[in-house]
Amino acid sequence: MNDASRSAHTDWPFDDLESNVRTYCRRFPAVFSRAQGHLMWDSTGKCYVDFISGAGALNYGHNHPALKHALINYLLSDGPIQSLDLHTEGKGVFLTKLQDVILDPRGLDYKVQFTGPTGANTVEAAFKVARRATERQTVIAFTNGFHGGSLGALAASSNRAKRRAAGTGLGDVVHMPYEGYLHGSFDTAAYLEAVLDDPSSGVDLPAAIVLETVQGEGGLGTASTAWLQRIAEIAASRGILLIVDDIQAGCGRTGTFFSFEEAGITPDLICLSKSIGGYGLPLGLTLIRPQYDVLEPGAHAGTFRGQNLSFIAGAAALDLWSDPEFARSVADRADQLDQQLVTWGRQFPLLGPEPMGRGMFRGLAFTENRLAGEVSQAAFERGLLLETSGARGNVLKVMPPITIGKEDLATGLDLLEDVLRELNVEK
Ligand SMILES: *Cc1c(COP(=O)(O)O)cnc(C)c1O
Repeated sequence: MNDASRSAHTDWPFDDLESNVRTYCRRFPAVFSRAQGHLMWDSTGKCYVDFISGAGALNYGHNHPALKHALINYLLSDGPIQSLDLHTEGKGVFLTKLQDVILDPRGLDYKVQFTGPTGANTVEAAFKVARRATERQTVIAFTNGFHGGSLGALAASSNRAKRRAAGTGLGDVVHMPYEGYLHGSFDTAAYLEAVLDDPSSGVDLPAAIVLETVQGEGGLGTASTAWLQRIAEIAASRGILLIVDDIQAGCGRTGTFFSFEEAGITPDLICLSKSIGGYGLPLGLTLIRPQYDVLEPGAHAGTFRGQNLSFIAGAAALDLWSDPEFARSVADRADQLDQQLVTWGRQFPLLGPEPMGRGMFRGLAFTENRLAGEVSQAAFERGLLLETSGARGNVLKVMPPITIGKEDLATGLDLLEDVLRELNVEK
């Protein structure tokens, strides 16, 4: 059989050859062959609305035309593709856009450290910088946080199954309760402050506090502006570096380019990956306040730091933000999404009353844990891709591309509403 005539999942060697470690493809056993914007097609021609968006790596949708043309032109020019950390025009274009479109207009002053092109590697770099700059070891992370699968980043991640998979010790991280962890009025920022100031708390003064403003893998828990400001103040007043892991929440997912803009805080270190490469291409970087740019040359090497296709597509994506209309249209879509989720919360008693998350980074929490997975499965049958999140997989993540049109968003949400009805979530 030639490759073009293969279609069904069973015609390919996925199950025979690919490792047991796969996850998404078990839930969504299609063979995808084409993608455009918020849509994907499988090899039988079935069309899917993609509300997973590459777990935040496809904020601008699939194969965005402006990004695609920039890539094609670059490929045709024989520009270097892989360049270690050499200077290239591609990298120059990316850095210039980052400065002109994102950093300068926000009054932000950071050094850019390109790391290996994964989220986990930007987190490893941030921890390395923080530990070196403070000469302390401990990192404070939060319950339900996720920071990546390599050992340092995994140590800061909270999911027990993922941690156990390491098969070795995960040290030097202390987990504190995230905002709202004990559901009532328990003030988790006050608790953190007490632990840091109590010489007998058992917690050493940390190098850094790392957090997500919206917890992408941990169930879409969302920190308030007040809490973020408290944590930033607690860190700053004790010489602890604040790291915002904006790998999933950043690049416009919450509505603004950085997820912490609304809170008005200035992290010491910012981790970006996923959508910073624009087109779903791999890129990772750590933004470092200049006084903490302390790693000596070579202290965090990585072969694939020079990803020129990612620089080119990433620069074209940043360029979208130079038009104020872009952020406004993302905000409009976020309002549209919010209204629908709030309506469902009233309509369907098996949904928690409040939708999770903010911006285009949303989730539906169900009163029974199994329901999120069941809705995800039924949605797949109907041609809608949605993944689950949270410690018990009880939150359905709703993450359309931030560039989706009004009608397209409405159509996708109609599909989801059909599934909610079909499963009799309405009672
Ligand atoms: C995805 C993610 C990571 C890890 O990124 P990888 O590219 O998978 O290594 C880290 N932090 C957050 C918040 C993420 O969502």
